[in-house]
Amino acid sequence: MNNKQYDVVVIGAGPAGYVAAIRCAQLGMNVACVDEWLNHKGDPSLGGTCLNVGCIPSKTLLESSHLYAAASKEFADHGITVKGLHADIETMIARKDRVVNELTQGINALFKANKITLVHGHASLSPGKTVKVSDRGNGKTRESLQADNIIIAAGSSAVRLERAPITDDYIFDSAGALEFDSVPKTLGVIGAGSIGLELGSVWSRLGSEVVLLEAMDSFLPAADKRISREAFRSYQQQGLDIRLNARLLSTSVKQKKVHVTYEDTRGAQQVKFDRLIVAVGRKPNSDHLFGDEMELEIDEREYIHVNKYCETSVPGIYAIGDIVRGPMLAHKGSEEGIMVAERIAGQKSSVDYDLIPSVIYTHPEVAWAGKTEHACATAGIPVNVGTFPMAASGRARAMAATDGLVKIIAHKETDRIIGVHICAAQASELIAQAVIAMEMGASAEDLAMTMFAHPTLSESIHEAALAVHKRAIHTRS
Ligand code: FAD
Ligand code: NAD
Repeated sequence: MNNKQYDVVVIGAGPAGYVAAIRCAQLGMNVACVDEWLNHKGDPSLGGTCLNVGCIPSKTLLESSHLYAAASKEFADHGITVKGLHADIETMIARKDRVVNELTQGINALFKANKITLVHGHASLSPGKTVKVSDRGNGKTRESLQADNIIIAAGSSAVRLERAPITDDYIFDSAGALEFDSVPKTLGVIGAGSIGLELGSVWSRLGSEVVLLEAMDSFLPAADKRISREAFRSYQQQGLDIRLNARLLSTSVKQKKVHVTYEDTRGAQQVKFDRLIVAVGRKPNSDHLFGDEMELEIDEREYIHVNKYCETSVPGIYAIGDIVRGPMLAHKGSEEGIMVAERIAGQKSSVDYDLIPSVIYTHPEVAWAGKTEHACATAGIPVNVGTFPMAASGRARAMAATDGLVKIIAHKETDRIIGVHICAAQASELIAQAVIAMEMGASAEDLAMTMFAHPTLSESIHEAALAVHKRAIHTRS
């Protein structure tokens, strides 16, 4: 039995945990990381949800399906003819698995290079900063690790709905929807959030008729209203049938179809699909984490309670990533991991929770950082707003990516940029410019005075900054 003492034990090797472990090791600490993930072959696999069944596989399939949709719908306009175009789903999924495998193996290599002790198994926390490790499911302690500091990064799992239980071949969670063996003719998705929109897009581009049933009466409520309106219009145009105000009543599988009953403003509705994806959010993995007598403050939504430095109610125990408050995003967890590692080492690091970029990887992509116009109005913050439509961008026209806009919100008195909202091709890349500008405390004038290369999509950021002071060149501000 390994009873070794470590400076730090990290529970979970997702993007929060593995980054924390690496940063601790860089800072000279003796680190162990315990992770229980098994891939679909039954082999241990690092990287947590993000690498195995989240960010990376979904973006890999988004890329493949985007190429297929371009070949089937856009190539002809460029004078390119493709005969016998066919989507080979088995090859597409195998490529996705290869990308995942390369990246998860990459983390193994990083752990080795940083001399991090990797322990595969289920960790549970006991008093006295002890982490007990058992084989998944059997509960028998195999190893007991002592640590001066513990970082909990156990992540989250998909929320299940009693009214739509996951069943083989018909009703899937997001992980199952990354493994389809064929393109369903009709596909239902419960929930029009990030996962519903991204995975709905994948299968819609490959030929499925997709209906998204969203319980709320507003679409993407966290996004700026102008941006969510623009995205909604664009998604509907490309064939995603998004039905708001749709409250799920029941599902059943009959004659190889999933029958769904939901209620909207007109009353009960029925619809049937070949397959159904349930994507209604995720919940923190805070159950099964604590042994007897271990007390840590957990909030009413099952998140481990932490302060802004990710310190739990027990000194020396930290929690980061999806298991604590804040958006469930890989980069947010990774930054918390770096902060905690550096604070353990005595540094004064912090995370800027006001500037976490959000991205939805559809086409066009949706991305934002900072405050929405609505939030500014509610908080009584006076603003100037500049927008620039992608249709006025030369590069966007060359790319046939004219849907969407860039919107910059600046403080009326100081001109400081307080929010940037984008619906455009490559918005995921464009938003980084906005985050850098806001982190540096830039004003709209600073961006307006910066030279951007022509022709680029980035010029739209420049033009939107010019538009804040009503002097955009290529559109009427
Ligand atoms: P996780 O990645 O969930 O990792 C936790 C790890 O801890 C897992 O390996 C788990 O097995 C292990 N673990 C749990 N309990 C124990 C225990 N008791 N003992 C040992 N090990 C344990 N985010 C983005 O930022 N961008 C995206 O594009 C994006 N796309 C996504 C697409 C999908 C389909 C999904 C499902 C999620 C997506 N996310 C995305 C969210 C992102 O995956 C999560 O925010 C991120 O993985 C959280 O990281 P984490 O390290 O906190 O937890
Ligand atoms: P989400 O919170 O983004 O969206 C869930 C949606 O389901 C919401 O709009 C909600 O109103 C709706 N919903 C809830 N219950 C419902 C019901 N009974 N019937 C109909 N609709 C219902 O959650 P998600 O899409 O499952 O994603 C989970 C997490 O993963 C998110 O927190 C997100 O941050 C993260 N994620 C991020 C990305 C990205 O960054 N691009 C991609 C995928 C997932």
